[in-house]
Amino acid sequence: MRILVAEDDIELSEQIKHALSNEGHAIDLASDGEEAKFLGETEPYDLIVLDLGLPVQDGITILKAWRDDGSNIPVLILTARDGWADRVDGLDAGADDYLTKPFHIPEFIARTRALLRRNSVQRNPVFQKNGVRFDSRSGRVSLNGMPVTLTAPEAAVLSYLFHNANRPVSMTELSEHIYEYGDDRDSNTIAVFVTRLRKKLGNDLIETERGRGYSIQLVA
Ligand code: CA
Repeated sequence: MRILVAEDDIELSEQIKHALSNEGHAIDLASDGEEAKFLGETEPYDLIVLDLGLPVQDGITILKAWRDDGSNIPVLILTARDGWADRVDGLDAGADDYLTKPFHIPEFIARTRALLRRNSVQRNPVFQKNGVRFDSRSGRVSLNGMPVTLTAPEAAVLSYLFHNANRPVSMTELSEHIYEYGDDRDSNTIAVFVTRLRKKLGNDLIETERGRGYSIQLVA
């Protein structure tokens, strides 16, 4: 999944990036409001982490602009400890959740996981289909109870397809959601990752919808 982290405290943003990268996500960083607003408008993120106290343009203004534009990307706002009024403004402006600084990284990660499941057909963090079990909390994958080791891009493709089950996902969309800004995005390599996933997890898990992309069908 692809996440924008808009935070001007460089130490904190690096800490967040590190933690989210460990979860297998592709992370873009923005350190001021203008950059954040631009990236949020132009890149198809699965989640945005937005510090409200950003230089150049503040978080509330940016969030309102995104929502006025019709963006439904889940947004987690970060606020100062005494910023209860900011939290009210942020939630009213269209934020989905908030965390008060300082926070514990495991709580932050758990909140991001919950937000990433929001638009999925199931709220259960464990996805199962045809003997394949994918635990989105640990990233562990098994087939008929036997652990399966995936490479980082294979895991990213599997996670995106599970989180977006029951609809075809094109190779372009997949590449937009597993690579970071400025990465060399070759959508042809997506087909290679899918072939390897089928070898490891069986041919029936990921379906090909001719001309439309790949899908995993889950019982909603
Ligand atoms: Ca700040």
